[in-house]
Amino acid sequence: MAKKFVRAVFPGSFDPITNGHLDVINRGIKLFDELIVAVGNSPIKNQLFTLEERVEMIKPLIAGIEGVTVQSYDCLTVEYAATVGATAMLRGLRNLTDVQYEFQLAMTNRAVAGIETIFVMTSEQYGFTSSTLIRQIANLGGNVSNLIPQSVYEKLKKRLIEKNRLD
Ligand code: ADP
Repeated sequence: MAKKFVRAVFPGSFDPITNGHLDVINRGIKLFDELIVAVGNSPIKNQLFTLEERVEMIKPLIAGIEGVTVQSYDCLTVEYAATVGATAMLRGLRNLTDVQYEFQLAMTNRAVAGIETIFVMTSEQYGFTSSTLIRQIANLGGNVSNLIPQSVYEKLKKRLIEKNRLD
């Protein structure tokens, strides 16, 4: 039987991308032929970087990983996946709260669009890494430099200075 070509999307808000996300990307690409990091807008999260800024930050970080690209999207995730011809969705799991939320999301996405979700477990050192927490810690002056790539850390520091000047 001929081997199937599998294109997957890794959707998220990536505001900003963290070492935890990169770890999921590096392990996830081993399961697929192509992986598109899909940057979307989360209506419930207060965004720090624009869609374009998030995409631009990710580009150099995935440039050396064969088969991985990045795009932004502005519609339902399953619609986006269908548009780009993806048959699988990649997601990461950190803890039981993630499992509960992701379980419901994966069931819904399969029911409405027939798309399968593939999960990878976080590496232990990133079990507590979330973009939301990073934004909060950094905003209070905490050091998050070992949780995000250096280039992202520089942009985050700059953005928080600009933001706090306006607040
Ligand atoms: P966050 O939850 O950090 O705000 P996203 O909404 O961008 O991030 O999440 C996109 C996907 O990446 C989700 O499936 C989320 O569970 C996963 N993810 C985020 N951080 C990690 C991590 N440290 N380890 C494993 N998976 C993660």
